[in-house]
Amino acid sequence: MNTELKQYTIAELCNGFVYNELEEKGLYGLSGRLTIQPEYQRSYLYAEDNGKKEVAVIESVLKQYPLGLLYFNRLPNGNLEVLDGQQRITSLGRFLRDKFSVISNDLPYRFHALPKDKQTLIEKTSLLVYECEGTEAEIKQWFKTINIAGIPLNEQEVLNASYSGPFVTKARSVFSNSRNSNVQKWSAYVRGSVKRQDFLHTALEWVSNDKVDEYMMAHRRDTEIDELQDHFNDVIAWVESVFADCYSEMCGLKWGQLYDEYHDKPYNQKEMTQRAAELMDDPCVKNRKGVFEYLLGGEEDTRLLDVRVFDDATKRRVYKRQTAEARAKGVSNCPLCAMGHEARRTRLWGEREMEADHVAAWSLGGATTEDNCQMLCLTHNRAKGNK
Ligand SMILES: [Zn+2]
Repeated sequence: MNTELKQYTIAELCNGFVYNELEEKGLYGLSGRLTIQPEYQRSYLYAEDNGKKEVAVIESVLKQYPLGLLYFNRLPNGNLEVLDGQQRITSLGRFLRDKFSVISNDLPYRFHALPKDKQTLIEKTSLLVYECEGTEAEIKQWFKTINIAGIPLNEQEVLNASYSGPFVTKARSVFSNSRNSNVQKWSAYVRGSVKRQDFLHTALEWVSNDKVDEYMMAHRRDTEIDELQDHFNDVIAWVESVFADCYSEMCGLKWGQLYDEYHDKPYNQKEMTQRAAELMDDPCVKNRKGVFEYLLGGEEDTRLLDVRVFDDATKRRVYKRQTAEARAKGVSNCPLCAMGHEARRTRLWGEREMEADHVAAWSLGGATTEDNCQMLCLTHNRAKGNK
């Protein structure tokens, strides 16, 4: 099957547009070459719900937001059928035929009542179209893919197509170029494939605070990518300045966010590197990917590490031993209750009423071993908190 990426202006697409009121469907566009609603298509839905969706299509165009890709099927005689995009094209066609209005400055406007410059803006906006040509079986399969599994392009590929221009061209020459010798170094921290635009996507996420779409829209006409490139290099250089050693667990972390949060703080590279090595080696650390954020945050949030807890067999043995000793002394089997002065002093808790606790806190070097395990009643264990 062949596919070809094309661009048409809204005026071209809607040239010859006819809306059939009786069947409630848009019929033709592209001066008659395009059938908007082939038999297998759903009927026009965007006019439902007071036309909220069709109004949204026009507002998007007025704000110059991308409408997404359209998919056409090219027939043997050269004519086209809409595979995906029928609702959007029908919205545009209906608006150009004054079938509904949009609100501007609190007033409703039909197309021909809009100021001339806005009419022109709409007519000249161009949309991206994938035209494909294949057997009926191929087309059906493809139609199924774009409708069920979504567009067979990833997010960044669609963004690149939507915002094509000098900025994307230049950014791709740096971040989507597998011959760029820096890619090897970057791949220690960035996950994914250069060709599928994952490096470009990461660089854009970092510089835009995860607002990639807005950033690309704002910079679409830029001919330089200095900010994008400088920020990306700053983040990587910062990570290297804090942690001298590189681990596979560093790949794909949210370094852009960590940079935003922590790059103003001073760190001792030698100490950070050594602590990272110790924690990566600690069998109690179940989430090794969390080590770096844990260290950057000053070793406070142990949840990031998902520290290994005592297993059930250990807890049961400690419970039995502790309870037998407490019974012999006539005190509570919770050592903290036993030190108190209230009724709890002699209370014997059931196994389900107690939780395992690190005698020496894990964060202060206490191991998750039986000799560092004690059972505490729920109240005291929760009061002790930091494990
Ligand atoms: Zn207690």
